[in-house]
Amino acid sequence: MAAGIVGAIDWQSAVSGYCRCPGESLHTHKSGKKDCRVCVDGVPTIFCFHSSCAPAVADANKRLRQGLGTPWTLTMPDGNVLRAGDVLQASGTILRREVYLARAAAEGRHPGEQLVLETLVAMAGRFKPELFEKFHWPFAQILGDSPLLVADRDPDDQFRTWLRLWPAHSTVWVGDIYSSGLPEHATHFRPLSDWQKIGPAMGNYTCGSAFKPGTFSRSNANCDGTRFLVVESDSLKKDEIGAVFAYMNNRLRYNLHAIIDTAGKSLHGWFDAPRNKVMEDRLKAALTVFGCDPKLFTYSQPVRVPGAWRNGKLQRIVWLKD
Ligand SMILES: [Zn+2]
Repeated sequence: MAAGIVGAIDWQSAVSGYCRCPGESLHTHKSGKKDCRVCVDGVPTIFCFHSSCAPAVADANKRLRQGLGTPWTLTMPDGNVLRAGDVLQASGTILRREVYLARAAAEGRHPGEQLVLETLVAMAGRFKPELFEKFHWPFAQILGDSPLLVADRDPDDQFRTWLRLWPAHSTVWVGDIYSSGLPEHATHFRPLSDWQKIGPAMGNYTCGSAFKPGTFSRSNANCDGTRFLVVESDSLKKDEIGAVFAYMNNRLRYNLHAIIDTAGKSLHGWFDAPRNKVMEDRLKAALTVFGCDPKLFTYSQPVRVPGAWRNGKLQRIVWLKD
């Protein structure tokens, strides 16, 4: 059925393989052999790394799902039988549809959305090697590609540049991890205009979220809804995580505002936050598979602020959108 829609498939597992993109003629960048994949487990999906082919891919997906709509089974080489809607996991075990639908009911999630999430996790695992290859964006190149030259600015300038990412009337927190929770910590929650005067002197951390005025505790309940998604990883190196940033910015169209060198082992990408909870859960599922820290979806989580020193090294913006 899948081959009838996308042509010859170079199967990489019993349920997933490379294929020619149904919208290849629409690609605005060079097409590679591993750019497009078809997966027939979970929600059957054709996925291409290019974005210009989206309408053609969407149309092919519709035909694939209609074609595979009736219950089917597939006996895999190891003798296990996969049924329509089951998800083949990286370990080779089969996640049964009824298992994850029970999970959806327990978590109060729509069954269709659970199906999408489970499919996404499996697909993200399959795509991961190609993603890191195709969107490879090493640290030196990030520095060179920055639309605004910013990495060499002094600490005060770094901090004030970062303040300009925020909407004018935001109240932001700057402090150290424990500068929160008691009335005396109110001094760490200030409007931008205050921080413009004070500079980067009150701590090494901030948050991707702005807070309600008068707050003295950095908790999710006190966030005011203005926020960035700060993407970070404990496991991806500075030369690796750029691929995730590039993928999010170029392919998923999450707006990248800045990349911050934490003066440690990692880089942080500051993105627009997902528009709603459904998009957030999907992004979280995929980013976790790519090696990013799921804590980043806790919006009151402290992150490194540019302009502060850490063990003699400057926390700084290394890439900034024009
Ligand atoms: Zn394509």
